[in-house]
Amino acid sequence: MTHEPYDTQAASYALGALDGEERTEFERHLAGGCAVCEAALRASAETLAAMVRSGPPMVPPPEAKEALLRRIATTTPPQRAAAPPRTLVWAVGMLVAMIAAAAFTGAFVAARYEGRLGQMAREAAALRERVQRDEAALRQQIALYRSVVDLLRDPQTRIVTLHGLGANSQATGRIIWHPVNGGHVLVANLPSAPAGKAYELWTIADAAPQPVGVFQVDASGRGTHRIPPLEGGKPVKVFAVTLEPEDGVPEPTGPMVLASK
Ligand SMILES: [Zn+2]
Repeated sequence: MTHEPYDTQAASYALGALDGEERTEFERHLAGGCAVCEAALRASAETLAAMVRSGPPMVPPPEAKEALLRRIATTTPPQRAAAPPRTLVWAVGMLVAMIAAAAFTGAFVAARYEGRLGQMAREAAALRERVQRDEAALRQQIALYRSVVDLLRDPQTRIVTLHGLGANSQATGRIIWHPVNGGHVLVANLPSAPAGKAYELWTIADAAPQPVGVFQVDASGRGTHRIPPLEGGKPVKVFAVTLEPEDGVPEPTGPMVLASK
């Protein structure tokens, strides 16, 4: 066995850094008498003593320690036994914020919901109005068809064909005419009358044309109009349609668009 391990162990032993089995074994080696290790320990002890003598004081002066303790005391927050824990404060704040948010959201949703309900009510009212309008239009149409059918059953009723004139040569029309009960005019392929204008129907018996009503055509160019019976029941020779101001005029002023001859 060489002596080498004891060289390093002696240095550690001198510093008090040798523990356990190593320390026991080194002390046994020393007890056996080793001049080398004894010399090494002496040298280490002298070196350490020299370091302590030449170096700065290892222990801080008492005033430094007190100053340090004062600083620690002022920077460390004091114990606040009365104040609630920070986590509880945060949790309560959070809960309040959530309740406020929920209330706001609730009010917002309610406002929106009420707005939506109001809109639905308005839509329902508009729909009901439209259905009522459609129903009225359908009833009017059914009344017209019944009237036409009733007229057609009568052997005195005649059908008069109207022809398109000028720019409206594609327009067509029929007059279902009863000498006593009057009749109906049905037109097709007429353009919609310009704004402020309407089509006016005329009957010509023996003298000047008699106005028998104004009418409009729908988007598909079709229109109908009830013709009241003529006073005195004079036989009509000619039916004609002109474009006139929408309220009608007593004598024709506009262009003739349809005529029976
Ligand atoms: Zn030794």
